[in-house]
Amino acid sequence: MVRVMGYVVQVVLLCTVLTAIATAQSAGGNPASTPSVADGHATSESFDVNAAVNAYLAKMPPAERARSNAYFEGGYWLLLWDSLSTVVVMWLLLRFRWSMRMRDLAERITRFRPLQTALYWVQFIIVVSVLTFPLSIYEGYFREREYGLLNQTFGPWMRDQAVMLAVGVVLGGILMVPLFGLVRRLGRSWWVWGAVVTILFLAFVSLIAPVYLAPLFNKYTKLQDSRIKDPILSMARANGIPATDVYEFDASRQSNRVSANVSGFAGTQRISLNDNLLKRCTLPEIETTMGHEMGHYVLNHAYKGLVMFGVLVVIGFAFLSWCISFGLARWGENWGIRGMTDVALLPLAIIGLSVYFFLLTPVTNTITRTMEFEADMYGLNSARQPDGEANVDLMLGEYRKLDPGPVEEFIFFDHPSGRTRITAAMRWKAQHPESASPEELARPLFNTP
Ligand SMILES: [Zn+2]
Repeated sequence: MVRVMGYVVQVVLLCTVLTAIATAQSAGGNPASTPSVADGHATSESFDVNAAVNAYLAKMPPAERARSNAYFEGGYWLLLWDSLSTVVVMWLLLRFRWSMRMRDLAERITRFRPLQTALYWVQFIIVVSVLTFPLSIYEGYFREREYGLLNQTFGPWMRDQAVMLAVGVVLGGILMVPLFGLVRRLGRSWWVWGAVVTILFLAFVSLIAPVYLAPLFNKYTKLQDSRIKDPILSMARANGIPATDVYEFDASRQSNRVSANVSGFAGTQRISLNDNLLKRCTLPEIETTMGHEMGHYVLNHAYKGLVMFGVLVVIGFAFLSWCISFGLARWGENWGIRGMTDVALLPLAIIGLSVYFFLLTPVTNTITRTMEFEADMYGLNSARQPDGEANVDLMLGEYRKLDPGPVEEFIFFDHPSGRTRITAAMRWKAQHPESASPEELARPLFNTP
């Protein structure tokens, strides 16, 4: 649902640098690893990184691997179907003049221009959500259930969709009203300031997301268990992070995926870990995950992400400006659109942005994947748990293909693949033999059928 907001939300998600990590199985915390090797040099030379990586990858049973590959590769096609369905729905709105009628209705209700824009937006997002609902329900509900990745029944799932729609109505309105105000005042050069407003909007959403949006979908509480909380806060202090609390949220409401994230912006930044992670991972695994999240924080990934996506937004708006001029000159009259300042052109703008972001998929994925890899390095250096890290990376394999080809990873992966991450962990371990944890290496992660 709310495919229109999808692109906005996609960028927002990228900006808040959400991290997801998949499931592990056994509960309880293992004691930290025991140093096992005396002579570091001898071990670093004899340690075969590739063999260690393959040994970890082999922990996932073939049937589990096949299921995960099918799920993830299906996602490649969904990228295409999502973009195509957006283009088709937008074209319908233009071709049959539904967009024009929504504008006319808004104009009959009020003479106040900003309110007309807002009223148009409300009709638009509801109509689009209804038209794209079949694909949304397949993608978000049936497909997730089929792969065992969704815990929700239909009722609670629909409730979340409805809340997302409500958020889309409000946030979209907040963006659309000033954007069309700018077009009316600035004419052809609107796109420069339009891009600036959009970037400010993304920063605003990142700012409010952890405090006002995330709690709409999950319950956030302060983590109490001092066996987990104390080592995490100690790591935070060591890394100069002024955190006094770690948040826990009930992600098990939606799925079994283990995840943690650092979200927020300019004062609302917080580190949260989900209940699946707490239930299913050992302390070394939780520590390496939190080290990764602290990396996002210390390396200022929220700000860097905003700058990099900001550049894409500016270029995107230049392209959008061209698309709108081109489309209106040819078909504007057929579609009942009066010109650049007419809110009824929104479907045309969405077509332009859909095509743009679809083509940029490898670029946006590379931006986030690169930051994720940086956070992995930070996690290894701060938590010093390469075996715990390899286990967490493997758990991701439940819904992210473990061992893709390099081109495939470049195009489709917004996080590094399991093989890339485990290779980094084993490379680190080879140089730090004292960090080896036989318990983590031996720990079974998947139910063998
Ligand atoms: Zn991350």
